[in-house]
Amino acid sequence: MATLAYSIRNSLYLNITNRCSNNCSFCIKFNSRTFQENDLFLDKEPSFDEIMTVIALRSDFDEIVFCGYGESLIRLDIVKQVAEAVKQYYSVRVRINTDGQANLVHGRNIVPELTGIVDCLSVSLNAPDAETYIRLCQTPFGAAGFTGVCDFIRLAAAAIPEVIASIVLVPSVDSESCKALALSLGASFRVRSYYEE
Ligand code: SF4
Repeated sequence: MATLAYSIRNSLYLNITNRCSNNCSFCIKFNSRTFQENDLFLDKEPSFDEIMTVIALRSDFDEIVFCGYGESLIRLDIVKQVAEAVKQYYSVRVRINTDGQANLVHGRNIVPELTGIVDCLSVSLNAPDAETYIRLCQTPFGAAGFTGVCDFIRLAAAAIPEVIASIVLVPSVDSESCKALALSLGASFRVRSYYEE
């Protein structure tokens, strides 16, 4: 049975969709349907009530993280609804791990809709330039995909308490250039190893 929520340390991770606005060459879901023994291939996307029910079954978390085998912000309305409820009933930190394509997906700046209910955005920058980004992430938005993620980070850094631009450690990526770009956009920077959350 598919896993909707799984724990890593004191964080409770929510797996609310398998849809994604990228198609990254390094994505774990193309190699394994399980992550840390959790089957993250969903039969169907969970409703608001189903998500709140799995959260209510846990008590050992101080952070909720939207992250799974897909891009949570594709389900923007559900993310906002759950984040608001989590803030209201649990008073814990809310983080979204995202590919940063949400403004392109929804055709508007959605960052203001996250202010006050999201504490941290961890955005996958993944590359220092459009060419590398297209090669690694195979974005359906083409060159606009890289511009889009940079714009998203810049807008988020001005509105959300903590914004981290991250890259996955692959040999062909110039991490120093990525770091310089991340800092210039107003974010902090983090290098992730494969499959690390
Ligand atoms: S954005 Fe994340 S979930 Fe989507 S394909 Fe890339 S690594 Fe996988």
